[in-house]
Amino acid sequence: MNAREADVIVVGAGLSGLIAAREVLRAGREPLVLEANDRVGGRILTEEPVPDVFLELGAQWIGDTHHRMEALASELGIGLYQQLEDGDTSYEFGGRILRGEAFHSAYADEVAQVERVLRTLDAMAESVDVAAPWAAPRADEWDRISVGQWYDQQGLSAVGRELLEICTVGILAVPTVEVSLLGLLVNVVTCGVTADLLSESEGGAQTKRFVGGTGQIPQRLADELGERVVLESPVLTIDVGDGVVTVGCRGGLVAKGKQVIVALAPTLAGRIMYDPPLPGVRDQLTQRLPQASAHKSFVLYDEPFWRDEGLNAQLISDAGPARMSNDSCMPEGDGGPGIILAFLEGENARVQGRWPDEQRQAALRDELVRHFGPRAAKPELIVEGAWVERQWTRGCYNANPGPCGWIHFGASLAEPIGPIKWAATETALAWSGYMEGAVDAGQRAAREVLADLG
Ligand SMILES: Cc1cc2nc3c(=O)[nH]c(=O)nc-3n(C[C@H](O)[C@H](O)[C@H](O)COP(=O)(O)OP(=O)(O)OC[C@H]3O[C@@H](n4cnc5c(N)ncnc54)[C@H](O)[C@@H]3O)c2cc1C
Repeated sequence: MNAREADVIVVGAGLSGLIAAREVLRAGREPLVLEANDRVGGRILTEEPVPDVFLELGAQWIGDTHHRMEALASELGIGLYQQLEDGDTSYEFGGRILRGEAFHSAYADEVAQVERVLRTLDAMAESVDVAAPWAAPRADEWDRISVGQWYDQQGLSAVGRELLEICTVGILAVPTVEVSLLGLLVNVVTCGVTADLLSESEGGAQTKRFVGGTGQIPQRLADELGERVVLESPVLTIDVGDGVVTVGCRGGLVAKGKQVIVALAPTLAGRIMYDPPLPGVRDQLTQRLPQASAHKSFVLYDEPFWRDEGLNAQLISDAGPARMSNDSCMPEGDGGPGIILAFLEGENARVQGRWPDEQRQAALRDELVRHFGPRAAKPELIVEGAWVERQWTRGCYNANPGPCGWIHFGASLAEPIGPIKWAATETALAWSGYMEGAVDAGQRAAREVLADLG
């Protein structure tokens, strides 16, 4: 039997687990990180299919208020570059394609309706405390209804309702009927998502990227931890004894520590066997926090031809298969290919995402031609990332509770159970669901174990 010992065992070498382990080490305690996969980074995954062309199959952007991530990048010596937004967005509704201003004037009423709904959400969110959403004065009412049901009651026209659906699914990656209204309000508070819903980039989550790829961040953190990170060690069991936590992995590794940080999305954390068993409420929580459904398709061309036409590579479409896209090129001035990133989210990830590659990619090409012209018909390469198929993630971008999730189970999301502490972005109070949240949660879990270790 292969055995290791440490003060704190960390389960998962995603960003949250790595940050937690580094905080523990910096405080003079020994961490040991057990990772199921053959790489670190989890939902961060950069591929380089062509030299110096970095495709973010996982997390790609940070926003202007992601201060923890900006500080981390600067500390690790990783530069940032601005997401290009200049140019017109192309909109497709009811078979009609309109660019920029033409869409905004043809559908001025619909855009105004959506704006009104977003401002209503902002006002409602003011009474929600992210540390205790279930205690909001109207929590009970808001958690018993889905976002989709509530949207249906807002007096929107068919196009206004569809526009709001597309933009919301662009953030949550699940149909709005699956998410509790209180859950969306929590997102509004922790992430200010209404700023992102209509692609107002200021205050949004997608303004900057990492030069050389996001994947450098977990890799450099893991380098700092050295042999304290053990790959290909899926954790199967966590046994809590008297002052000792024993963590068993597939493959036979057994790690003993005083504390354990489980830095996994809740649904994956629920697949570990705990002894003694976890309280029922915690297990029921993990049964009710499914990972969302998103699929990224990068379409590479010889150059960013759309810029010559005054377009910004962004589309919003009621037809699909991608409901949204954007410009995913390397920093301006670096040359390199033109890259459009098409998003299949929610039902599109579940339906078209499962089509045979050839069928889906042909449909994607047709869609891009409709929006960006005939040059879009001949990409040099298409690279796609289907996260549902990845055993150690099983969906993305993160988890969203359905109705009654928060009021009945929310309190157990990050509540420690003796020496077991919970990290991962889903447990964050700031920017939950994003890398910023993963850092926030990792730091909080580290503080909790360090406090217990005295
Ligand atoms: C396609 C996609 C796009 C995204 N875009 C953005 C973006 O632009 N900006 C942004 O901020 N965020 C984005 N995100 C979200 C961001 O990636 C996550 O919020 C963040 O990386 C989560 O980190 P984590 O450490 O909490 O979880 P994870 O990254 O999921 O880490 C968990 C780790 O645990 C491992 N693991 C699982 N089960 C076990 C087990 N039993 N034993 C041991 N190890 C296990 C996994 O392999 C993984 O390494 C995106 C995510 C995806 C997938």
